[in-house]
Amino acid sequence: MDITQTKFDPSAVRDDFPILNQRIHRDRQLIYFDSGASSQRPQSVLDAMDECYHRTYANVHRGIHCLSEQATDQYEQARARVQSFINAPNNNEVIFTSGTTASINLVAHAWGNEHIKAGDEILLTIFEHHSNIIPWQQLAVRTGAKVRFVGVNDQGELDLEDLQRQLNANTKMLAFAAISNVLGTTTPVSEIVQLAKTVGATTLVDAAQSVPHEATDVQVWDADFVTFSGHKMLGPSGVGILWGKQAILESMPPFLGGGSMIDQVTTDGFTPGELPAKFEAGTPPIVEAIGLGAAIDYLNSIKMAPIAQHEHELVKASYAVISKIDGLRILGPNANDRAGMVSFVVEGVSPQDISILLDQQGIAIRAGHHCAMPLHQSLGIRASCRASFYFYNTLDEVAQFGEALTKVVARLR
Ligand code: PMP
Repeated sequence: MDITQTKFDPSAVRDDFPILNQRIHRDRQLIYFDSGASSQRPQSVLDAMDECYHRTYANVHRGIHCLSEQATDQYEQARARVQSFINAPNNNEVIFTSGTTASINLVAHAWGNEHIKAGDEILLTIFEHHSNIIPWQQLAVRTGAKVRFVGVNDQGELDLEDLQRQLNANTKMLAFAAISNVLGTTTPVSEIVQLAKTVGATTLVDAAQSVPHEATDVQVWDADFVTFSGHKMLGPSGVGILWGKQAILESMPPFLGGGSMIDQVTTDGFTPGELPAKFEAGTPPIVEAIGLGAAIDYLNSIKMAPIAQHEHELVKASYAVISKIDGLRILGPNANDRAGMVSFVVEGVSPQDISILLDQQGIAIRAGHHCAMPLHQSLGIRASCRASFYFYNTLDEVAQFGEALTKVVARLR
């Protein structure tokens, strides 16, 4: 993380996020520390979507009337924004889906059904989100393949030695998160992709927690597939991305069948259309994609390096305050080596109770298994608390959180 960048001032953007400026529960100022689950949206995204619904909305790629042409143009401009944001070489490699979950399911079906057979191995990490576990388990049930998991080391990092031990000629897919949504662990994506290549495995990077927070270059990563969601990066829910290398996407059969994804249909059958339409059956998330395009414009106006640097400061500050709490254990790597979230458990205190009492003071954190049950099982716990930050959070909010958490834990003991 480059901390030589100019300091980012979150107060300069707070007014862009109307939802953050409100008081809840007996007049408490809202402190939103749940952006890992879903971020908030700036006014410019709300305006872009509103403008589309008010003036230019129609179905895309279908009508030859004015509104349809305008909506199609905006939808395709959004694709171009995504392409440039992740430095994808080709526009038609960017597929709009409904989110990370849908993107991974698409790959597990369209690629997996063709390439995975009994005896093959699918390698994941123990800290994957259920979205990057269950589609592979379902594929394994369909085909007789085996799903295996790479562990974490004592520092809370991905255990690269274990990864190398488990990679073998049977490994056909290596699917892993760029950033764990619980531990905040960042993985060395390019290095892992290169390791996978030594055994000829295909790679998928679940970038749901990384694309919103740091610059992404899919050409540097060199993975076969990358997936992420709009709602975690200032965009609306209901839209996400599957990026894949053109050759591999072209070689895959379509996943969903329906409108737009065909070249020809007869009573005997169909021939699929070209990329990206082949994977965008049915009416796509039109306004959501346009909202995502506006979200990318907003992120570009701030730039990703200062965002990452500011979140790093928030993490360091939160470590400093909460690690003083007796019996509190922070999950994952140390403060210098992690992404913008901190998960923890407190001995003898339920994570849910902590979250409920913090919420009464206006502080929104998440408690539970965060859709990462295998990780929690491996850590010997059922649930944890997670405070996850975005660039609109302030050091003052972290200080208030630390103070409130100290009191809450003392009360629950
Ligand atoms: N992967 C990771 C790492 C995530 O954090 C999430 C969302 N919490 C997902 C996948 C699933 O994303 P979505 O619900 O947007 O499909």
